[in-house]
Amino acid sequence: MYNARIAMLHADLGIAAGYAQRSGLPLQIEPEELVDAGKDMFGRDQKLTPLALAAWQKMQLAAADQGVTLLLVSAFRSVDYQAQLIRKKLDAGRTLEDIMQFNAAPGFSEHHTGRAVDIACPDAEPLQEEFEKTIAFNWLKVNAKDFGFVMSYPRDHRHAISYEPWHWCFQLDQ
Ligand SMILES: [Zn+2]
Repeated sequence: MYNARIAMLHADLGIAAGYAQRSGLPLQIEPEELVDAGKDMFGRDQKLTPLALAAWQKMQLAAADQGVTLLLVSAFRSVDYQAQLIRKKLDAGRTLEDIMQFNAAPGFSEHHTGRAVDIACPDAEPLQEEFEKTIAFNWLKVNAKDFGFVMSYPRDHRHAISYEPWHWCFQLDQ
C-alpha cells in the first residue's frame, strides 16, 4: 500500500519509475507515533518520534552546556508534504532534474521517519554548506554519535542527495 501510494505520487510529479535504483536511496517509512517537538527557529510546529525527540533534547542541552547553540530547522516531513514541496518548485518553473538534486522524491526523504533533523546555529545561514565551518558543526562531528545522531549525507557519499552538513538522523530506535 505504501509503495503504491509512493508510485502514484511519483507518477503525478513526473518522476520516472526506478527512482530507488537510480538514486541509491532507501525507501523511508512514516512512523506510527510522532510527538510535538516544539517550534523550529522559524516558529513552525515540529514533530519527531518520542525517542528521537528525547535524544535531540538531550543533545541540544549538552551542547548548550558547552556554550554551543543548536537550532532546529526542520524535523518530520510527511510523504505528502514532500510531494507538495516538489510540486511548488515545479510550478515555479524549476526542472525536475534540478529539484531532485536537493530534494529526495516522496517516500525517500529521511525526514519521513521522524528521526531526522536539520540543524542550524546563530552564526551561519540555515541549510547552507557554510554550516560546516561553525563551532556547532564541529561539536556535532565530535559528540552527535553519543546521542545516536549520524550525518546522513556527507561529502562524496554514494547517493543522489548533495552534501548536507546540517542533516542528522537519530539511528537507535530502528
Ligand atoms: Zn534534512
